[in-house]
Amino acid sequence: MSTALMEAAAPSTAVTETMRAVVVLSFDEAAQVREVAKPVAGSGEIVVRIEASGLCHTDIHAAHGDWPVKPKLPFIPGHEGVGIVETIGEGVTEVAVGDRVAIPWLGYACGTCDYCVSGWETLCESQQNTGYTIDGGLAEYAKAFARHVVKVPDGIDPFDAAPLTCAGVTTYKAVKVAGAKSADLVAVWGIGGLGHLALQYARIAGASVVAVDLVGEKLELARELGAEYTVNAAERDPVAVIKELGGADAAVVLAVSPKAFEQAFASLRRGGTMSLVALPAENRMELPIFETVLNGITVVGSIVGTRLDLREVFELHAAGKTRVVREERPLEQVETAMEDVLHGDVPARIVFRP
Ligand code: NAD
Ligand code: ZN
Ligand code: ZN
Repeated sequence: MSTALMEAAAPSTAVTETMRAVVVLSFDEAAQVREVAKPVAGSGEIVVRIEASGLCHTDIHAAHGDWPVKPKLPFIPGHEGVGIVETIGEGVTEVAVGDRVAIPWLGYACGTCDYCVSGWETLCESQQNTGYTIDGGLAEYAKAFARHVVKVPDGIDPFDAAPLTCAGVTTYKAVKVAGAKSADLVAVWGIGGLGHLALQYARIAGASVVAVDLVGEKLELARELGAEYTVNAAERDPVAVIKELGGADAAVVLAVSPKAFEQAFASLRRGGTMSLVALPAENRMELPIFETVLNGITVVGSIVGTRLDLREVFELHAAGKTRVVREERPLEQVETAMEDVLHGDVPARIVFRP
């Protein structure tokens, strides 16, 4: 049981302060808003008053128990929480009360393993994940390790900062590991919360973008944000279209469907790279060995991004180089919000106002 909920359940003589939070009680029940204990900052921790909190498709996977490693029930989802530091625990020097911070998926990493010291803290085997192994940001308050939050620069709207905290940093990193550069053609599969930012990072790298989705409105948005080409995969074969353009140098797969991964692979030109990001419940794709070898294809998995990547993402946004498309909703609408995301019925990202 997660700490906040345990505290709420434990009998105590002291008066426990409470807060509203989205709670997942079971994988077959809809997530719901409940009154739970407000967290208290321990040593090295902070408590943040959440101003804006994005809904990532990962929160839906978490609430449904879609993945091989499942979160421990009950838990509070959310890893795009942005807010103001309200209290700091013993020994906290990284942030001060009143700072605006973002609480990303990488809630904790050890800081000393080979991965951590080589700039790959996202691969740390001791990591804790916000909204999965530790309670997340879909709440009025959230507790976080001071070392693992990232300060939000002045001038960035917290409702923009929230989607940047996962959708932004993840796609910024995925475009980086795909090696996208000027004169490349980058195919982006899935123009949702992640995809609408992925295509902007590919353009910042100088590449041309072909956006692929099944929903017409998403493709219109992709055009608005600078995609040179769009393909509705419900109407046309994206592989044929992209091959006609010469093939993709890189493909970033954000669509929650193994079929999309297979199409993305087939759309690559020789020497191309595909960056695997989406995490469909159906955990398999077919990867032909012969074509991978003869065409010199690189397949790379990409998991979120580091604190440094997120700082860079905020820097780009503060410089006016990215646009976050989002819709504000009250926390109480979490159930319908999850359904709307699953049906592709959302401009790009839903951001809750707790
Ligand atoms: P989203 O629902 O906002 O976007 C998915 C988009 O894919 C939608 O626009 C949808 O219409 C489109 N789509 C679905 N099937 C398609 C198909 N067959 N072809 C083309 N487009 C298709 O989701 P999101 O929040 O952007 O997250 C996307 C995925 O990335 C999720 O699986 C999520 O868990 C995962 N994710 C991974 C990481 C990571 O670090 N690897 C980080 C965050 C999210
Ligand atoms: Zn996410
Ligand atoms: Zn580590």
